[in-house]
Amino acid sequence: PLPADPTAAVERLAAETRAIHDDRAFNLNPATNVMNPRAEALMAAGLGSRPSLGQPGDKYETGLEAIEQIEVIAARLAARVFGAGFVECRVPSGAIANLMAFMALAKPGDAIIAPPPAIGGHVTHHAAGCAGLYGLVTHPAPVDAAGYSVDVDALRDLARAVRPKIITIGASLNLFPHPVAALRELADEVGAHLMFDAAHLCGMIAGGAWPNPLAEGAHVMTMSTYKSLGGPPGGLIVTNEARIAQRLDAIAFPGLTANFDAGKTAALAVTLQNWTAHGPAYARHMGELARALAQAAEAEGLPVFSAPRLTESHQFALDARPFGGGQAMAKRLAQAGFLACGIGLPLPEIPGDMNGLRIGTPELARRGVALADAPQLMALFGRALREDPATVAAETAALRARFTDLRYAD
Ligand code: PLP
Repeated sequence: PLPADPTAAVERLAAETRAIHDDRAFNLNPATNVMNPRAEALMAAGLGSRPSLGQPGDKYETGLEAIEQIEVIAARLAARVFGAGFVECRVPSGAIANLMAFMALAKPGDAIIAPPPAIGGHVTHHAAGCAGLYGLVTHPAPVDAAGYSVDVDALRDLARAVRPKIITIGASLNLFPHPVAALRELADEVGAHLMFDAAHLCGMIAGGAWPNPLAEGAHVMTMSTYKSLGGPPGGLIVTNEARIAQRLDAIAFPGLTANFDAGKTAALAVTLQNWTAHGPAYARHMGELARALAQAAEAEGLPVFSAPRLTESHQFALDARPFGGGQAMAKRLAQAGFLACGIGLPLPEIPGDMNGLRIGTPELARRGVALADAPQLMALFGRALREDPATVAAETAALRARFTDLRYAD
């Protein structure tokens, strides 16, 4: 039933969610992050309900001259951070970023090749997601299980057979660099475009701790802005190709968006400014902390995927099969104050659950968790899997209380 006072109920529920993330739990889920409070404040600064339709310098409504400048600042900062000639900011989410890129690069009925779920491939690239809904026919890329990426030689055979218009790479879990240059060569051979989905990797790329896919040969890069980038909930697309940028511009407006949230654009600008100031330090911290946690997990006797080669990114994964599956594991861990979720690994499947658990460091690094904290954190994490997780929660909360400041966000 609807609560008697829905507004009060919603406010209470929002505060409850905030208390879990800000006070009690360690967020090990790389798909979420904590925002710079100044960026967050801009989302509630009264801009969101001001429609902003059209290009800066040529808006339909009046009174938006200041908002126009915010759009321009955000786009210029994104271009600088990602070394890109063209930026599309009018993107509501990472999923819609992918749809916009698909629309710019292919027609309904065309074939594409995309990473399958066993190496973290995202649903938006497949039949049930926006690729399929737009009418693209997705062929799952062959897998290099040890490298947690695509098998380029087998993909070459597939591409020669199905003649894709797009080859996508980049996933929800990325452990080692993807073979971007080799895929670009292949894309050129078969007349395809190469699209890099940096929903998760964009922060590592922004901070120079991961190869920049545009520099390596990707035609276009899509991303989410609230995961490792630590910004508002939204998406972003960058490219160095003027022709693709022009198509994206028309897809953004008048295609898929009319008015859009200028408050989010303002928050994105502040976020991107933080990357220009702190990017290398934040990205390095994320990567080093992921390795320290993966090593500490191994020391706890936990099955880190692909040991001894653990990770070169800000993420790593555990084989969830001994624990009944990734989502079952996540529910148990949440009771002990650790937030994480399931992921697909190239291992035998578990009926009704996922065979991996994904762990990432965007929020831990921002909250100042140091490499030296990794053993203590993973000891509690390990106990939560062996003992009654509720008995660990108080100790997790006590450790969590040490991390009160935000880094890389001024
Ligand atoms: N692409 C990948 C690889 C993802 O992991 C996600 C995550 O949800 C998306 C796209 C979609 O991004 P968003 O959640 O911003 O729509």
